[in-house]
Amino acid sequence: MKPPAFAYERPQSLHEALEILAREGAEARPLAGGQSLIPMLALRLARPTLLVDLGEIAGLDELSLDDGTLVAGAMVRQRRLERDPLVAHHLPLLAAATRLVGHPAIRNRGTLGGSLAHADPSAEYPAVALALEAELVIRGPGGERSVPAREFFLGPFTTALADGELLTAVRFPLPSAATGWGIAEVARRHGDFALAGAVTLVERAADGTCARAAIALFGVATRPVRATAAEQALVGQPLTAETFHEAAVRATEAIDEPLSDVHGSAVYRKQIVPVVVRRALEAAAQRVQAT
Ligand SMILES: Cc1cc2nc3c(=O)[nH]c(=O)nc-3n(C[C@H](O)[C@H](O)[C@H](O)COP(=O)(O)OP(=O)(O)OC[C@H]3O[C@@H](n4cnc5c(N)ncnc54)[C@H](O)[C@@H]3O)c2cc1C
Repeated sequence: MKPPAFAYERPQSLHEALEILAREGAEARPLAGGQSLIPMLALRLARPTLLVDLGEIAGLDELSLDDGTLVAGAMVRQRRLERDPLVAHHLPLLAAATRLVGHPAIRNRGTLGGSLAHADPSAEYPAVALALEAELVIRGPGGERSVPAREFFLGPFTTALADGELLTAVRFPLPSAATGWGIAEVARRHGDFALAGAVTLVERAADGTCARAAIALFGVATRPVRATAAEQALVGQPLTAETFHEAAVRATEAIDEPLSDVHGSAVYRKQIVPVVVRRALEAAAQRVQAT
């Protein structure tokens, strides 16, 4: 199918982009890498009358470190997150998550901000942002605001972004040196969206027990969710296979509305959640023990 007709603008500045979006209202859509939006147009699941291409706006594709935080512009391409030495050194979790996103051809065009704004419940980046307690920087007609990841994802393909607003950057707090990370997912083929996935962070206390844990699930609920009961079950406990098994079982408590579709039923997805959580926790523990 061909997309319906639309107009196209390529603003040179953020100010210009926001002006165009304000002028056109809900009929205009930002265009980042186009890897989700263009298929939606082709399938006529979206019918914007104007696409506002963010590709020429200076500053949106920058990566930097700022006081213990990795700041990634919304237009940073996924391929760069996979390969950039700054990411590899300071936030290898983000590089590892990127390798699970589609295929190189998709990652060459797809952007960090596009994935977060698209808010597919099965996508990896939203869960990474949730686990790391990232802040999403948003610019709109009223100025700039910063939204914590836990308040940004509202439901399937629904975020806290209002019409006329743009996601401009993401601030990822860097985990402490005593923190290990893991990411695990089950997908039908490598590069497919996950049927269930987990991102984990495990911080080791001086006595070797778990000081803090973060577990974010994706692919299983209407939006990425933190498995708080499982996280609390880990705190103060030794980093052992038994502890991880018990926490992994409790992770399913976080899923109040399980996804169910042609790729995997709700029952199946809930069954594999403990598997991916345990794998991701074991990977995190191995990394923290190697430090
Ligand atoms: C075959 C295939 C397999 C894929 N597999 C995976 C996968 O396994 N995991 C995964 O996570 N993703 C996967 N994707 C999706 C891919 O990651 C997309 O790149 C991503 O979802 C959207 O990013 P984009 O830059 O292409 O955004 P676009 O497609 O350009 O935009 C997506 C949406 O976000 C809005 N938007 C974009 N940027 C902004 C912004 N800065 N501010 C406000 N709104 C904005 C757009 O208006 C649109 O509604 C796959 C895609 C394909 C085609």
